[in-house]
Amino acid sequence: MGKPTGFLEYARVERPAVPARERLGSYGEFHSEPGAEARTEQGARCMNCGVPFCQSDYGCPLHNLIPEWNDEISARNMEYAMRRLLKTNDFPEFTGRVCPALCENACVCSLNGEAVTVRDNELAVIENAWAAGLMKPEPPLVRTGKRVAVVGSGPAGLAAAQQLNRRGHSVTVYERDDRPGGLLMYGIPNMKLDKSVVLRRIAKMEAEGIRFVCGTDVGKDLSSEELKAGYDAVILCCGARKERSLGVDTEGVRGVVSALDYLSAATRSLMDGCAWWWWATETRPPTAWPPPCGRAPRPSRSWCGNRNGKKRRGSGRIPPMGRKPTTARRKPQPYSAAIPAGTARPYRR
Ligand code: SF4
Repeated sequence: MGKPTGFLEYARVERPAVPARERLGSYGEFHSEPGAEARTEQGARCMNCGVPFCQSDYGCPLHNLIPEWNDEISARNMEYAMRRLLKTNDFPEFTGRVCPALCENACVCSLNGEAVTVRDNELAVIENAWAAGLMKPEPPLVRTGKRVAVVGSGPAGLAAAQQLNRRGHSVTVYERDDRPGGLLMYGIPNMKLDKSVVLRRIAKMEAEGIRFVCGTDVGKDLSSEELKAGYDAVILCCGARKERSLGVDTEGVRGVVSALDYLSAATRSLMDGCAWWWWATETRPPTAWPPPCGRAPRPSRSWCGNRNGKKRRGSGRIPPMGRKPTTARRKPQPYSAAIPAGTARPYRR
């Protein structure tokens, strides 16, 4: 317990958000770190409970050592806080951004006040470690000679790959999409989890010896027999992209889109160019496009003319009150070519 009276003296302060109007011109994350002093105070709010419900079954599913690293934060010992955090959490930079923070719901501090900012503290610890150059590749000292294939590069696949690689096995991760990350890459909007954060982690894992094979759909491009013949073990970490049906036939209905298709297209638009074009030509059934109104697909770039810091008339600007925003039409951007079946090629950063 960094400060016995911390929870009485300091109020809960969350990471400040950029004002909504300023966010309109960007697809990036919009929370910022309040600073070292504020973070120390937030760490000092933790009471280091005798029975820490934050890390119990009612709180963190990973059983993170929350009181321990809160104590280190309050003592400004961020490196040791990082070491305790990484004991139980493979990817704190992801959970610190997108976890629903069950630990905060279970926090004893919230019984009579506001919970400790556990998730923000976690993110501050790991981002501080990346910024300080502490997150260096840690390849295993000895290899066992065993080969393991991991199918799917979402959070489960990445965690399995990292743990197995650290035990000395040679791990290959197969991914159907053109970039690794699964739902982290294509299922979570950029404003919640910047894709550079995912690629930063992938680069570290590659440096540790994990091999990523993207654009390979296991079951189609690679059979289960081939996998079993080439590896000592196969781990299936896939299926999160399979949507749950509403039980309603929405085939060809305008304006009804699967959330995963939409989120994937939105992220592709940021990383490749035009989501609308990709979505219209690759994911929609031919009978459903063009739409009955006959409108051409609208490239997402024209949605926000302010992407590259440029301000064009009629787009990317906040219109005066009472006036509708106008959008300049542009030609559809070319979309990236689909990966030929069976081609294993490195992903694009
Ligand atoms: S329950 Fe809350 S106050 Fe208690 S140890 Fe966990 S984070 Fe700290």
